[in-house]
Amino acid sequence: MSGPVSKRRRVARINGLGNSYKSRMEKCMDENEMIKKENSEKEEQVKSIVVVIAMVQKDLDSTKIIIDQVLKEKLEIKKRISWELEKEKRKVVRMKRERKKIRKKYVFNRQSLKKKEEIIRKMNEKVKELDTRIADSVVKFDDRMDRKTKVNRCERVIQSISNMLNDTDINTFLTFFLGYINDNSNYTPRWKLTPEETFLVKVRFGLTDSFFKKFRKFYYDRTGFELFSSRWSISNVQKTISIRDLYVVKARKVSKKAENGREYEKMTPFAVLKSIETILGERLSALSANEKLTFNDATGSDICVALGGDKGSEETKLFLALENVPKANDAHSLLLLGFYTGDDTYDSLKENFSHIFHQFNNLHKISYQVNGVTITRNVRRKIVGDIKFISSLYGHPGQASSNPCFLCNINYSNHGAKKATLTNLKFEDPVGSRSLADFPNALVNVPLEDICLAPLHSCQGIIQKYGINVLVGQAIKLDCANVCSDVGDTIESQQKTLKRLENEEYMYLERIKAVTESIHTVEEIIEGLRKIEKKQKKCKKTRKVCSSSYCIANVIGNEIYSNGDMYSCESCNKTFHTYCQGIATPEEKMKLDLNVSSKNCFECDESIPFTVRRRISEVEKQLEEQYRRLEEDKETWEVVTNEKECLTESMVKPTKGYGKKMDIP
Ligand SMILES: [Zn+2]
Ligand SMILES: [Zn+2]
Ligand SMILES: [Zn+2]
Repeated sequence: MSGPVSKRRRVARINGLGNSYKSRMEKCMDENEMIKKENSEKEEQVKSIVVVIAMVQKDLDSTKIIIDQVLKEKLEIKKRISWELEKEKRKVVRMKRERKKIRKKYVFNRQSLKKKEEIIRKMNEKVKELDTRIADSVVKFDDRMDRKTKVNRCERVIQSISNMLNDTDINTFLTFFLGYINDNSNYTPRWKLTPEETFLVKVRFGLTDSFFKKFRKFYYDRTGFELFSSRWSISNVQKTISIRDLYVVKARKVSKKAENGREYEKMTPFAVLKSIETILGERLSALSANEKLTFNDATGSDICVALGGDKGSEETKLFLALENVPKANDAHSLLLLGFYTGDDTYDSLKENFSHIFHQFNNLHKISYQVNGVTITRNVRRKIVGDIKFISSLYGHPGQASSNPCFLCNINYSNHGAKKATLTNLKFEDPVGSRSLADFPNALVNVPLEDICLAPLHSCQGIIQKYGINVLVGQAIKLDCANVCSDVGDTIESQQKTLKRLENEEYMYLERIKAVTESIHTVEEIIEGLRKIEKKQKKCKKTRKVCSSSYCIANVIGNEIYSNGDMYSCESCNKTFHTYCQGIATPEEKMKLDLNVSSKNCFECDESIPFTVRRRISEVEKQLEEQYRRLEEDKETWEVVTNEKECLTESMVKPTKGYGKKMDIP
C-alpha cells in the first residue's frame, strides 16, 4: 500500500515543477480526499474480510467438533467390528466342528445305505424267485380248462386288480374296464355291435324303431351297457350303403294260404332294378378301379354275365353273376336284379320281371370307366340256375311232365308201373336235342348251349339220391332190424312205414280209451244190478223205468244214465234202457242202431234164467271180455309204439348203431 502512495507523491513532485503550488495543493487535497475515500473503502473491505475470517474461524471450530465426533465413531465402529470378527471366528470354528460331525454322519449313512441297498437287492431276488415259482405253478390260461379252474383264475385276477386299485369296491372300475376292452382294437373280446352289425340286426330281424328304442333302454337299465350302436351311426350306415334309388321298391298284397286252408292277404316287399346297364357299368368301373376286373381265356376280351335265380323260403330272387372276377363266388360278382314273394314259375317270373328280361335280352354291349376313359365291350350272356328255375325261364312244362328235360326230347314216366329207373331207362337211345326255337315263349333269348346247370347242386342231388340215401336207408333198416319186422329198404318206404306206425299208434290209443270207458260202464251196470239184488233202498231219483224186470235207471250214476239209450227188442217189442240189458260198448249200441244185432233181450232169451244173479254173471262175462280186449290192445300198442320210436330215432337223430356212424341226418 505504501508503494502506490509514494509513487503518487513522486509524480506530484515532478508535476509541481510545472504548475502552481495552489493548484497543486488543491490537486493534492482532492487526491487526498480520494485516497481517504479509497482508504475507508479498503477499511470496509478489511472489516468484511475480518468478518469472513471470523466466520471461517467459527466454521473451522464446528468442523473440528464434527471431526472429533467422527473419530469417536470410528473408534467405536472399529471396536464393534473387532467384536463381530471375533464372533464370526467363533462361528467358523463351530461350523468347522459341525462339518466334521456331518461328514462323519454322512460316511456312516452311506455305509448303512449300502447295507440297505444290499438287503433290497436280496429281497428283489427273492421276489423274482417267488414270481417265477408262481408263474410255474400257474398254467397258461386255456379254453379247455375246467370251469372251476377258470373261475378260480378270474377271482385271483380280480383280487389283484382290487389290490392294485387300493379299493375293495371295484364294480365301477370293472364297468369302465369292460368298455375299454370293447373299444380297444388290440383285444378281441367285445360286446357292443358295430354300426354295420346293428344295422344288419335291424334289417335281418325286421326290428322296428320303437322296438329298438325300448329294447335299448331295457338292456341299458338292466346291464348298464349299450348293446347297439347309436341310431345316428345306423342311419349313417344306411345312407352310405343305400342303393334304393337304383330299384323300384313296392309293398304288394299277396294272397297266401293259412294252415287251415283259408286264404288271406299279406303285404310283401317287391323290388326290381331300374336299369341293368347303369348298375353293371358302375360295378365294372368299381371293379376296374380296384383291379378286380379280370379277363382270361374263358372270357376273352368280353364281359361275361349270367342271369340266375332261385327260390329260397318264400321269395324268388333274380341276379346277374359276373364272370370277370378273380373268385367265382365273390360277393362282388353278384348284382341283385330283383325279388318278390312267390314261386319261381313261368307265369310269376313273367309277371314280375318282364322288364328285366327285356333289358337282359338286349344287353349286347356295355360301357364303363377306367381312369376317366370310357371303355365299351361286348357282352356274352349265359343262364344259371337249378333245373326248375331254368324250365320256368324257357317256358318248359317242368320235371313232372313226360318230357322232363329241357335240353333233349327224352320221354319217361315218373310214377306207376312204367316208372323210369336207372336200370330200365335206356339212356343210350337217341332222342334228339332241343334248341331255343323249341321254346317260343321263353323269357330269355339265350341259346340252350349257354345254360349252366349249377354243377354243385347237380352233384349233390345225384350223390344224395343214388349214394347217400341208399346207404342211409340200409343203415336205418339194420338199426331197426331187432325191433321192427320190416321198415323197407329206402328212405321213402321207411317214411311211409313211419307214417303207418304213427297212425296205428293213434288208433290203438283211441281203442284203449274206448275200452276203458266201456269197462267203466259195465262195472256200473254190475253195481246197479247188485243193488237191485240186495234190494237196497232206492235213492230219491225218479227216473222213468223201462220194461226190464230189473231196471237199474234209479240206482246208477248220472254219467252212465245220460249216456244210455232206449231200444226195443225185436222179438218181444218191449222197450229197454241199453244199460238194463248189459249193453255198454259203442259197437254194440251201433249194432242195435243198425238193426244187425240178433241178440234177444234178457227178458225173452230163454238161455238166461229169470234171476238178477244170472244177469249179473252174464254182464260179468262181458266185463272179462272187455278186460281181455284191453290187455290185447295195450300189448299191440306197446309193440307199435316201440317200433315207431325205434324208427323215429334211427331216422331223425340216431344215438347208436350204423345211423350214428353215418352221422344221420
Ligand atoms: Zn336231356
Ligand atoms: Zn231200465
Ligand atoms: Zn225181448
